[in-house]
Amino acid sequence: MIDRFHRNVTYLRISVTDRCQMSCSYCTLQEEPKESLSAREIGELVRVAGERLGFRKIRLTGGEPLLRPDLAEVVEEVVATSQIVEVAMTTNGLLLAGRAEELAKAGLRTVNVSLDSLDPARFRELTSSGSLDAVVEGLRAARRAGIQRRKLNVVLLGGVNEEEVVEFVRFAIAEDVEVRFIEHMPMDDSRLTSWRVDPDEIRARLREEFGELQPVATDRSGGPAELWLVGGARVGFIRAISGPFCDRCNRLRVTSEGKIRSCLLSGGEVDLAGVLRGTLPEEERASALATLFQTAADAKPPVYELMRDGAVPMRQLGG
Ligand code: SAM
Repeated sequence: MIDRFHRNVTYLRISVTDRCQMSCSYCTLQEEPKESLSAREIGELVRVAGERLGFRKIRLTGGEPLLRPDLAEVVEEVVATSQIVEVAMTTNGLLLAGRAEELAKAGLRTVNVSLDSLDPARFRELTSSGSLDAVVEGLRAARRAGIQRRKLNVVLLGGVNEEEVVEFVRFAIAEDVEVRFIEHMPMDDSRLTSWRVDPDEIRARLREEFGELQPVATDRSGGPAELWLVGGARVGFIRAISGPFCDRCNRLRVTSEGKIRSCLLSGGEVDLAGVLRGTLPEEERASALATLFQTAADAKPPVYELMRDGAVPMRQLGG
């Protein structure tokens, strides 16, 4: 689907629940959880996106996707649309060990595990709950289950976990995963600058430890990460704030309650749930949904404006 600024929108991120068992220092939800889309509704949206609009990649996120007992069913619904060539999930990994096999069998091939500290005490403090061992075990179970692409998402927080970058790369080498250092995005103005980390300083620190970083060529349409080979591991930097990638943004987001969000940080929402749950016959419903997708794509701003429309909790948006 082409938007008003000629960007080819092919990547849909779906928040499958706004519930999460963690309460991270920069990502909490005060509101009561709302009803999420059902597996069947998600399947229908993906069919429209894949068959009519040219979407090729789906990411299931949340909230915490693994809190959904029917997650394998959701994956099966997504995989059933043959135009979708990549099905990924972002998770905190806490429950992954017990579910990896079931999800791999359903067709999940890529998992991103969010992990902001390898220090058990700091991990507990940052997440207000959770066992680091369980997350690491989840990552290993994913490998055993045959989930081929495993990535670690590390949100770098100045003065909190930035000193762990070398350790994260060592961990990535040992566990055969890609690690991606992500800039913290201020979703409310109180912390606009206090957690900022200079990516050049981080790269310098890695160079000191592992020698020259080798750039990995990407076609830049594959995602926002700048990729490097560091000591044999693939290391990505996602600079949403210091190096925005809006000009090649190829994504739309569906919130857990069934609204399309045009942009993570700004732009409006378009409600899909009303049509999904309405009384239109199937064919007309698919056309109406396709039109709503196009409306949302056309509302994508050329460049995001931080907090223009107020912050929407990450848990509803899925990051
Ligand atoms: N529960 C899942 C998880 O932990 O990965 C999926 C949802 S979580 C909102 C998705 C990702 O967004 C996590 O990697 C989280 O660290 C990241 N995230 C949340 N708030 C953020 C912020 N303000 N800036 C950057 N990343 C953020």
